[in-house]
Amino acid sequence: MICENIALVRENIRRATEKAGRNADSVTLVCVTKGRPPEEIKEAIRSGLCDIGENKVQEALAKYNALRKAQIKWHLVGHLQTNKVRAAVEIFDLIHSVDSLKLAQEIDRQALKINKVQDVLIEVNTSGEASKFGVRPEETPGLIKEATGLKNIRLQGLMTIAPIAEDKELARPYFKKLRELKDEINKFLLTTYDLKLTTLSMGMSQDYEVAVEEGSTMVRIGTAIFKGEKR
Ligand SMILES: *Cc1c(COP(=O)(O)O)cnc(C)c1O
Repeated sequence: MICENIALVRENIRRATEKAGRNADSVTLVCVTKGRPPEEIKEAIRSGLCDIGENKVQEALAKYNALRKAQIKWHLVGHLQTNKVRAAVEIFDLIHSVDSLKLAQEIDRQALKINKVQDVLIEVNTSGEASKFGVRPEETPGLIKEATGLKNIRLQGLMTIAPIAEDKELARPYFKKLRELKDEINKFLLTTYDLKLTTLSMGMSQDYEVAVEEGSTMVRIGTAIFKGEKR
């Protein structure tokens, strides 16, 4: 089941890239495994996935230990509290959810301690929904300017979560907004800091095709991969 689901998701991604005139390999599929046991994650890995996403540090730690030997890139896609940063920096290859300068500074501080340069994305609240984490779009360039001074984090791009909707087309404006924000930020990053954001983490089971059409380079998918499994 998991194997077939992954094949279907891959095919849908390929089609969406084709529609947008992009390369199919320009999109990384992050398998979001929250609530799923290590055996199912192993099956996803056997199907060729090497990017695993979790939304809680504690849960990720347990799985990290169970799957230690697998060649996996670990992604933190959920909100990160400052008191969990130390553990997060130890296991995650990419943190998708930086939403304040204070959090960026703490990641920088903990990464320095273990001699790591931590890859991060800035989470942007493109919809303005009060229930969502993330920086407001208009505050994002300012946060990025300040974060460029932190030597032990590497700003790779932006992440967003679109509002839940029956019709995936309704998510399109939020994805478009994130892409335009990245382009706007890259104008000053390139000229002033010789830096460039390359990653757009956007698209989940309900809306990833639309996200890919709008330029997503990283989709985060759980339900569409694990549906039909027992739990
Ligand atoms: C759970 C989660 C996902 C995956 O959602 P699905 O709808 O199951 O594909 C993606 N991103 C974040 C931040 C999540 O918490």
